Amino acid sequence: MPSPRHYPRAFAFLALLLRACAESVLEPVNTRPLEPPAIYRTWWSEVEACTGVTGRFERVRWLEADVIRNRDEGTEHVGAWEPPHTIYIKADRLMYMRGVKHEMTHDLLQTRDHGSPTFRRCGG
Ligand SMILES: [Zn+2]
Repeated sequence: MPSPRHYPRAFAFLALLLRACAESVLEPVNTRPLEPPAIYRTWWSEVEACTGVTGRFERVRWLEADVIRNRDEGTEHVGAWEPPHTIYIKADRLMYMRGVKHEMTHDLLQTRDHGSPTFRRCGG
């Protein structure tokens, strides 16, 4: 356990993470269907193994987008997840494993919450 004086810093870090990926306000621009690259199946299996949650890869609806922006913050993002099973990936970051696995983690855990230890370990 961190000592009490570390708590404010930990909370600030968590708030930053949550703000950085609040998919609910993300707006994908110029979307089109994405045929997921073959490597995505491998990454999906790895996220399944990490989270201990399995799900059919085929359930995910993949879309690519030229830009994924947060209207409120004015920031740009690599990916976004929309419940129940839609994942957007920025078109020029399709092979960015960490970003894709992050969105897969949202889908397998079925949560927008980045705070759980499982999420941080597998999709952080
Ligand atoms: Zn996220």
